Amino acid sequence: SIRTFATETDAADQDQQEKVIGETKKKTFQAETRKLLDIVTHSLYSEKEVFVRELVSNASDALEKLRHSQLTDAGLDSGKPLEIHISVDEAKNTFTIQDYGIGMTEEEAISNLGTIARSGSKAFLENLEGDAGAASAKDKIIGQFGVGFYSAFMVGAEIKVFTRSAQPGSKGYCWTSDGSGSYEIAEAENVAVGTKIVISLRDECKEYAKEAVIEAIIKKYSNFIDYPVHLNSKKI
Ligand code: ADP
Ligand code: MG
Repeated sequence: SIRTFATETDAADQDQQEKVIGETKKKTFQAETRKLLDIVTHSLYSEKEVFVRELVSNASDALEKLRHSQLTDAGLDSGKPLEIHISVDEAKNTFTIQDYGIGMTEEEAISNLGTIARSGSKAFLENLEGDAGAASAKDKIIGQFGVGFYSAFMVGAEIKVFTRSAQPGSKGYCWTSDGSGSYEIAEAENVAVGTKIVISLRDECKEYAKEAVIEAIIKKYSNFIDYPVHLNSKKI
């Protein structure tokens, strides 16, 4: 695909290439998370597009937390607008979503992305226990309960999360996983306050690197999004 012009945002993104600088720590997911991820990554669930809704909803929650802090004494600031920026790249086969929200500290990234807290996912696993589990039953449960952040592994071969907490003085981190049992986390530089998630799409999920496909999905869910969404630098 050919870029006809570079917008200011593109230029800023290029200046700000995140880079791992710290020692990389390898960690294993909690047992429950491994189980969930194993199901999600091998799922034949047909409505994989829900990953967009889940990630946009997390970005929106993160912006809401930042906005809320601004109404109280905490008064945190990311220095950027309360917006969600999505970009897709067919040549690189990637889907990227960035928010300038509350972000995560290293501890928060480890506990929020490495363990299952959400009630939906717990219910999902509990339902699975009772059900020896035909693939179709698992797929039904994915649809019914949703799997939040982990739904990105339905389409991603590898996921990178760059995050920096809005708490003053916070460092940036890079969290990486292919969804198979473990993840890595390291300090990184040039990470904006908030969270940027880069999904390297699986070959069979190439369609999610297409702007028109993502635009249609976002429009489908736009009623639930409280903050402006930009797709490849264009407001939707
Ligand atoms: P839920 O949104 O129901 O809590 P998810 O699996 O979608 O569950 O997300 C897990 C947690 O990861 C969130 O509760 C939040 O703490 C953290 N998280 C995910 N995405 C972001 C983000 N964009 N910014 C900050 N924190 C995030
Ligand atoms: Mg969520």
